[in-house]
Amino acid sequence: MSGHHVDEREISLESDVYNARLVRRVDESDELGYFWVKFDGEPTPFEPGQYMTIGVYADGKLVQRPYSVASAPHDAGTDGYEFYVRLVPVPRFTTLLWRLPVGHGMRMIGPKGKFILEPDDERNHLFVSTGTGIAPFISMIRQTMAEGRPRKTVMLHACSFADELGYREILEGWERDGTYPLQYVPTVSRPTDPRNAGWTGRVGRAEAVVGAVCKDLGLRPDRTVVYICGNPEMILNVERDLMDRGFPEFHVKKELYWPKGKPSVPA
Ligand SMILES: Cc1cc2nc3c(=O)[nH]c(=O)nc-3n(C[C@H](O)[C@H](O)[C@H](O)COP(=O)(O)OP(=O)(O)OC[C@H]3O[C@@H](n4cnc5c(N)ncnc54)[C@H](O)[C@@H]3O)c2cc1C
Repeated sequence: MSGHHVDEREISLESDVYNARLVRRVDESDELGYFWVKFDGEPTPFEPGQYMTIGVYADGKLVQRPYSVASAPHDAGTDGYEFYVRLVPVPRFTTLLWRLPVGHGMRMIGPKGKFILEPDDERNHLFVSTGTGIAPFISMIRQTMAEGRPRKTVMLHACSFADELGYREILEGWERDGTYPLQYVPTVSRPTDPRNAGWTGRVGRAEAVVGAVCKDLGLRPDRTVVYICGNPEMILNVERDLMDRGFPEFHVKKELYWPKGKPSVPA
């Protein structure tokens, strides 16, 4: 599956436009990884939910893509900006990113994006994501936790396989010890696959379970704000389901990771 070894483009180790560096990476699996990119100079402030665009030169061209920041703004000067990325096995950007050793120069610009929390929002927060779409929510929780202004949150995270539930241990820890007023609801969409053997949590795609989650956890349309991030089909399906349940349009915010109509992994 991981086809990055077939990407033979020459990546420039240094370039005049590089202004940042890959300072750390943790490979969760062949296809999922956490990457920390730090500016060589002063960090740029951002709001949780926003994204940065990172890139490298390969075969003389700057190849770059946007990524939601998963870390909190206050860590940018020390640890850099954390990103949670899925390898897409076609030679575009992620196949280059996967080949980068720690210390490699990069280009980073930003922040951009309006997928941010409303100030002083007392409503319940329902965060819905697929795969790496959980990243902005991790930043939001880290920041509101650091500010001492946590928000009552339900985190619905859908993946094909339980071993793809990024940030699971951290989220379970926050929920268990009450560090954050969080209800973590992971769901797997392929329950009969051997990779999910032993899974006892919810099953089904995000759009299939979101209604039951709202009902079971008492999330009322008039008292809940919903943020949805990741796969565009999921986002539109979840939004439609919530509208049918009486959620007003302005209670739903969306961040699409790629244009509607494209499969999650291109053929
Ligand atoms: C605002 C914004 C924030 C983003 N944040 C993240 C992030 O935090 N983590 C992340 O992994 N990606 C994120 N993406 C997607 C990212 O920018 C790239 O598109 C992705 O990493 C694939 O890059 P690529 O160059 O290899 O392939 P591309 O040419 O960019 O994409 C090819 C195809 O891969 C599929 N694809 C793209 N992203 C994903 C994904 N995350 N999971 C599964 N399939 C995908 C789609 O079918 C897309 O058409 C974000 C996109 C946007 C617009």
